[in-house]
Formats: sequence, C-alpha cells, structure tokens
Amino acid sequence: MVCHCLLVEGARELVLIDAGIGLQDIEHPERLGRGFRPMARPTLDPAMTAVAQIKRLGFSPSDVGHIVLTHLDLDHAGGLADFPRAKVHVYDLELEAALNPLTMGEKNRYRAAQWEHGVDWVRHTVHGERWQGFDGVRLAIENETEILLVPLTGHTRGHAGVAVDDGDRWLLHCGDAYFNRAEVELNAGAGPLGLALLRNVVAHNNKVRRSNVSRLRVLADGTPDLTIFSAHDPAELPAPLLASPTSPATA
Ligand SMILES: [Zn+2]
Repeated sequence: MVCHCLLVEGARELVLIDAGIGLQDIEHPERLGRGFRPMARPTLDPAMTAVAQIKRLGFSPSDVGHIVLTHLDLDHAGGLADFPRAKVHVYDLELEAALNPLTMGEKNRYRAAQWEHGVDWVRHTVHGERWQGFDGVRLAIENETEILLVPLTGHTRGHAGVAVDDGDRWLLHCGDAYFNRAEVELNAGAGPLGLALLRNVVAHNNKVRRSNVSRLRVLADGTPDLTIFSAHDPAELPAPLLASPTSPATA
C-alpha cells in the first residue's frame, strides 16, 4: 500500500491533498499506535514523506498554504505537523468524529498527537451545491484552481473525496472510499480478499461505503474527463498523474 497525496501548484501557493505519514510519526512511531504498525508494516522512510518530496521539487514547506484532508485517519493526518503554516480543510463531520470519537472504532483510529501542535482547522459543511451528482463543497482557497470537498462517507463518519479542476479534466482523490482499483471497475470484482476484509472491518458504516463505491463506479465509467484514484492502491500512483519522472505531481 502507498499513502497517495496530491500536490496542487496554484498561482500563489501550494495545496496539499492529504498529508500521509509525517516526520514526527517516523521519529516517534508510537504515534501510529500498537495495532497499525504490525498490521500495515509501514516503511518509515523520511524521504517518502510529503514534506521531503515537496522539498525535492524545490519548494519550501511554508509554500503549502492549505491542506485538504479526505479524512483524519492516522495514515492521512500524520504529516500535518510538517506544515505548521497551513490551514487544514476538513468536512465538519470528520473533525467532529476525530475530536469527539463516539465508538471504540473511532477512539482507536484517530491519533490526537497528530494535531496537538495546534492546527488552523477550517470546517466545511454541505449546503446544497452539487458536483457530478454528488454533494460538493467549493473551497475558496485557490482562485485559479477549483477544489471541492465531495462527501463520500462510510469509511469514516465524515470521509470525503477531493475534486480538483486540472484544466481539461477533473481529478478526484477518493481517499479510502475504496482500497483497490478493481472496486470501481465494472465487472472486475472486489480485489484481493484480505484487503476486502480489512476494508469492511475498518469501515464506520459499510453499507453507506458500499453505496458510495457503486456511485463512484458509475461515475468513473461514464465520465471521460475525470481521473479518479484512491489513497492506497500503488497501481494508481504512476502515470497519467506524473508530470515527468523528475517532477512528480503525486507524493
Ligand atoms: Zn488510509
């Protein structure tokens, strides 16, 4: 598995979609909890963090003015501390779940240590706007690049996709709405069995999650100017999103 972040270079600043595992998690792996490390066995390599990859592109961490999160699971929010200047945009149901977890599942999945440095949260609520048939929340953070939060709940209470207008097409970072590409391809099955079991077990509401995956399958199949990808399928990481072998648009 990878933790697939997307970096948007705007006219004035950078926008990072998801923060992955961060430097603090690598320095203090106990931040990731006892269950996650033996199960996921993450490669704790500082060079693979979003902040290290952004520096390799010639930017400074302070160039990242905004982070938009699909959700606050530990493998998506760990990098927040690497960008202390950034405003962090999140669907309000997700922030509520992370700050006030109600179930054992919610108490286990979020890591308060990943935001205890003090985060400039920007909560977003749905108010009637639509994008490709889904609810959408337009984020007024980059004048020339349209970025929307697209609620795709189920994996967590307030999980959302993030849609980015890339000029001649849209990109949709689906976070953990699905784990394996096969799930959103027509007649391709559910992907590896172990991954399917994990995906079902960690879902906050699996029925809602499945229903959103069905909608994504239809969307992916019938929308030519749209590229969708998830957080964790390595097969979705390479082209066509890579700008060039030396200047990846993905981290
Ligand atoms: Zn994840």
